[in-house]
Amino acid sequence: MKTEALFYEKIKDKVHCFLCPHNCVIKDGHFGKCNVRIHEDGKLFTINYGEVTSISLDPIEKKPLYYFRPSTQILSVGSFGCNFTCDFCQNYSISQSVAQSTFVPKEDLVETVMTTKNNIGIAFTYNEPSIWYEYVYDSAKLLKEADKNASTVLVTNGYISEEPLKELFPYIDAMNIDLKSFSTRYYKDLCGGSLNPVLKTIEMAAKACHVEITTLLVTGENDSLEEVEEIARFLNTVNPDIPLHLSRYFPRYKLQSAPTDISFMRKAEETAGRYLHKVILGNI
Ligand code: SF4
Repeated sequence: MKTEALFYEKIKDKVHCFLCPHNCVIKDGHFGKCNVRIHEDGKLFTINYGEVTSISLDPIEKKPLYYFRPSTQILSVGSFGCNFTCDFCQNYSISQSVAQSTFVPKEDLVETVMTTKNNIGIAFTYNEPSIWYEYVYDSAKLLKEADKNASTVLVTNGYISEEPLKELFPYIDAMNIDLKSFSTRYYKDLCGGSLNPVLKTIEMAAKACHVEITTLLVTGENDSLEEVEEIARFLNTVNPDIPLHLSRYFPRYKLQSAPTDISFMRKAEETAGRYLHKVILGNI
């Protein structure tokens, strides 16, 4: 459903969206980089409000969150669109195009959460929740008002501006944040984003809710022990108890390099373990 977006301002004949660090300045009739926010006649609209492409009851460990209510299940929901363009995207069919979706009013979503058996709450995942902001905010708030013990989770690339993030924190219990690399070149060339805003999100989130981090180790791109060490050292300065998931890459979408070498994964685990108490290998 198309609805007026939050976090924008009008500048002469354009609009400036400041929901995420791209800070798009958008001409009338054009979309921002995420392809879900459009400028129409002086107003900014989001086209994915309540538009659900996937919904599934998943183990919490699949998010991945290993240290937040372990051995439970969480209703996981996603829409379409993303503010990154990762060459190795695992969900490119919903992240990089306007996928087929079903409109689910927030009240219906919350009712589904509350009536699904063996479910601890809701996880906004599959596509990037930052650019699904209005619906994520409304649904998470409504769920917390209905049941303060229900859990709310974001699985995110962390590419969101500080103001919207702060406003969302009161309704979020846990986040898994991708720290894709410690290189500005990698973020720019492979993901179409930048590193520093993600580091800022991690620092802020670690003070606000439970946080776990995922780094996909991509063959020939960020599979170096030096980079793993930089990531672990940074997380150590935030909190050495933050769990780090080092995930094995497999060829996907535009990137067809070989899967990450298993012996490298083991060495990466050992390297990160010198700085962090909880390092978990994924996809192996
Ligand atoms: S949310 Fe979309 S339109 Fe807004 S700044 Fe980010 S990419 Fe641009």
